[in-house]
Amino acid sequence: MSPRLLLAAFVVLLGLVPVAGSEFQVTLANYIGLYALVALGLVLLTGVGGLTSFGQAAFVGLGAYTTAVLTTMQDLPPSLAWLAASPWLSLVAGLLLTLVFAAVLGLLTLRLSGHYLPLSTLAWGISIYFLFGNMEFLGGFTGLRGIPPIELFGHPFDSARKVFFLIYLFLLAGIVTIRNLLDSREGRAIRALKGGMVMAESMGVNTAISRLVIFLVAALLACASGWLYAHMQRFLNPTPFSLHQGIEYLFMAVVGGAGYVWGALVGATVIAMSKQWLQDILVRVIGQAGNFEMIVFGVVMIIVLQRARDGLWPVLARWVPVRSRPRRIDPGVPALDRRPLPAAGETVLDVKGATMRFGGLVAVNDLSLEVRAGEIVALIGPNGAGKSTMFNLISGVLAPTAGEVRFRGREIAGRPSREIARLGMSRTFQHVKLLPAMSVLDNVAIGAHRREYPGLLKGVITGAWRLDRREEARVLAEAARQIERVGLADHMFDAAGSLPLGKQRILEIARALAADPCLLLLDEPAAGLRYLEKRALAELLRKLKAEGMSVLLVEHDMDFVMGLVDRITVMDFGQRIAEGLPDEVQRNPKVLEAYLGGVE
Ligand code: ADP
Ligand code: MG
Repeated sequence: MSPRLLLAAFVVLLGLVPVAGSEFQVTLANYIGLYALVALGLVLLTGVGGLTSFGQAAFVGLGAYTTAVLTTMQDLPPSLAWLAASPWLSLVAGLLLTLVFAAVLGLLTLRLSGHYLPLSTLAWGISIYFLFGNMEFLGGFTGLRGIPPIELFGHPFDSARKVFFLIYLFLLAGIVTIRNLLDSREGRAIRALKGGMVMAESMGVNTAISRLVIFLVAALLACASGWLYAHMQRFLNPTPFSLHQGIEYLFMAVVGGAGYVWGALVGATVIAMSKQWLQDILVRVIGQAGNFEMIVFGVVMIIVLQRARDGLWPVLARWVPVRSRPRRIDPGVPALDRRPLPAAGETVLDVKGATMRFGGLVAVNDLSLEVRAGEIVALIGPNGAGKSTMFNLISGVLAPTAGEVRFRGREIAGRPSREIARLGMSRTFQHVKLLPAMSVLDNVAIGAHRREYPGLLKGVITGAWRLDRREEARVLAEAARQIERVGLADHMFDAAGSLPLGKQRILEIARALAADPCLLLLDEPAAGLRYLEKRALAELLRKLKAEGMSVLLVEHDMDFVMGLVDRITVMDFGQRIAEGLPDEVQRNPKVLEAYLGGVE
């Protein structure tokens, strides 16, 4: 069954609810839809992006109160009065207000790492709740009443059965939008946020902006849920926007499957229904009312999290015979523009006196190095000599303590790695950094993130509404081309994490090439490769060199290096101990002692 057919079947089933369901069932389904809309934002924010928020209920409240105030207040100032004309206008007002509010909060808090971010969401979750309760014009803790129903072309959505359609229209639109977004250029950057930030920055992605984007989108979804809620309920008090509810939203996303868009609906359904059901049963068993269901609920939650760490959706999905076809690559689309390569012999990379201290340890000590266009230069030395640190200084992952790094004539020491990447330097990592659950194709496509970049806003909007298909086809065709070039064509649609380590390294080379670099930094590319694979890699590097690419590589395998490179720089204890042509270096007594005669 194709995913589209499944979606159609689901929509038909959904359509039966307001037709065949009781008033109670329809109302419950409405609540589930509203919850799922908020949980959907958390799927994006927490499940995909790895940012935990307990404070989404506050954004729901912002949406609900904005529309409630605008549509019920008698004496609005004239500058705002026109907004009261229709709930649709107050939806727009609510979304804009939420956007501003979330942008300010996001800029203040998203920089926080580790536990500080969730803690800060707790803080604003609480404060906004009390703000709702204590503001006179918001009705205090008693609330606002008399909110009109939403109207569309003169038809009011004034019953649970009618609101149902509106709620699920919003939810399905939200699910499709988020799915599309994740399947686009910006979506790949978003999917790299959890566990791949250093890599993504090295591919030119501004991860701070990607984080802000998902924070804003999640807040907007919550706001829309609040707007629908206010007009469904027709009165409002602060209770549903408390921290308690914020925590429950997070539970829904996690229980449903925080990494999957459908997990939002599954989680909201399971939690809303089991709460209802538990309440009924417990009242009968215990014989008195009280919040006993919360206790059972907590225990069940812990069991679910133990048994199904990724939530219920992946467990359910195993029972559904859905197979999405691998994406078709169209090799006929016009290729992406390429950057002009520097003229042969031009100095591409020029490092002077680079020094890096980690506390008392000098990992790189006054090291100088030069790479010219069309050259392959090797950096060798025993383990711990400082080679990878040197790569990190050059590529902007670390800022050198002292020294100059010039790339194509520009001083880049201390610049963020995304800026350096955009200038045409691309790298691989000694400890491979890829997104194991994503396909080889998607991983390599991240490399092309900044090729013919349309800009963030345009990228997000066209991605969310599938207006980017032509561009996307070109990016994927480019990724496929690089995958074929490095010899991984058979693995194009496999999960990157399923490849043997040697092939993962090769994948990183394809990803680096997808960025269309003029300088390639390869950190131990041949480690873990078999003989024939090494020969193929050497062949590829020769071909790249012939095309005018410059390469700086760290390598242990002397045979591999000797026949391939133009010059070698040898490092030991952070310092350069030799430099020259391969055979000169091979005969240098200092090198023999430090490296070739050593434990390597
Ligand atoms: P190589 O790649 O040549 O094997 P590295 O550059 O990885 O060597 O490491 C050089 C030295 O710097 C090692 O002693 C290592 O422990 C130290 N080092 C590397 N990165 C860090 C870091 N982030 N913090 C502290 N010490 C580091
Ligand atoms: Mg290293």
